Order: sequence, then structure tokens, then C-alpha cells
Amino acid sequence: MDKCPVCGNTNLISGKKEYQFVESGLDNVILAGVDVTQCPECNEEFVSIPNVVALMDLIAEQIMLKTGRLTGQEIRFLRKNLLMKIAEFATLLGVDRVSLSRWENEQVKPTVANDRLIRLTYATCKKINENTRKKLIERLKDKSPEDTCTERYFIPAFTVGSEVRQSRNS
Ligand SMILES: [Zn+2]
Repeated sequence: MDKCPVCGNTNLISGKKEYQFVESGLDNVILAGVDVTQCPECNEEFVSIPNVVALMDLIAEQIMLKTGRLTGQEIRFLRKNLLMKIAEFATLLGVDRVSLSRWENEQVKPTVANDRLIRLTYATCKKINENTRKKLIERLKDKSPEDTCTERYFIPAFTVGSEVRQSRNS
């Protein structure tokens, strides 16, 4: 970018910084090393996020493997990552769509068994790789941390790049 699209200023400052990726639908995803261009005239900020599809998959994988219970936002994120509507995902889970809506809206907390069912259904639909499958099994063996915790997902930009390369080779 050589010109600010808002005010037309040509003296722009570029750099890398941490970016709270609220566009993901989650308020706890931080991207590190994101290219940001700033306009000192109008204070507008322009962020370039590479490989959004790979990035969303990477976030979904971290959610699936997280230690605490899934939050409503995270359940919705996993479902949307599979490009499924509520009715479709609910059918796969074997629950009615009202229950799934209530989980997503945090009116009701899914049981530990349902929390795992969501992860396992996601993993099955997403065709995860062997390494991720092993990590998921380790996560499922861990009985202790079942309380909902609000984790922050801290994702370095280079991770997304390498993930993309990996999936092209396989
Ligand atoms: Zn400007």
C-alpha cells in the first residue's frame, strides 16, 4: 500500500504487531507478527492477514485441543469452520437444534460427554492429520481440567505459513 485509502496521505508507516482477530468471531484470538500499515494523518490502520482459510483451520484445531471446556463462541466457531448450519451439525451430534443453539448462546453448558462429542465430530468431519489425532487422544485422556476456561489463542503468523506449506505437500 503506498497511499492511505481514507485520506490519500502517502507517508505511511509499516510494521508488524499483535492483532486481536475479532473477525474470527472469537474475542480471545491474538495474531502475532501481522503486517500493519498505519496512516499518521488520519490514524487509520490497515491489517493484512495472510491465508485466512488456513488460519481459521489452525484456530479451530487449537480450540479442539484446548484443555478447558468449550465456550459457546468456540462451539459456534467449530461448526462454522465445517460450513454447517445449526440443524446439520445438531443432526450429526444427535441432539436437537435447540440444545445446540443454547450451547452456542451459553444459556446451557454442554456436559463433559457432549463437549467431547463436539470435538470428536469436528475431528471426524475435518479429517485431521495423524499428529493432531494423537494430540486429541492425549487431550481426551486428561480428566482434570473440565471447567470452562477462557484461554487466549496466541497464533504467530509464521505458524500459519508453515501450516499451509504442510497441507500442500501432503
Ligand atoms: Zn489516512
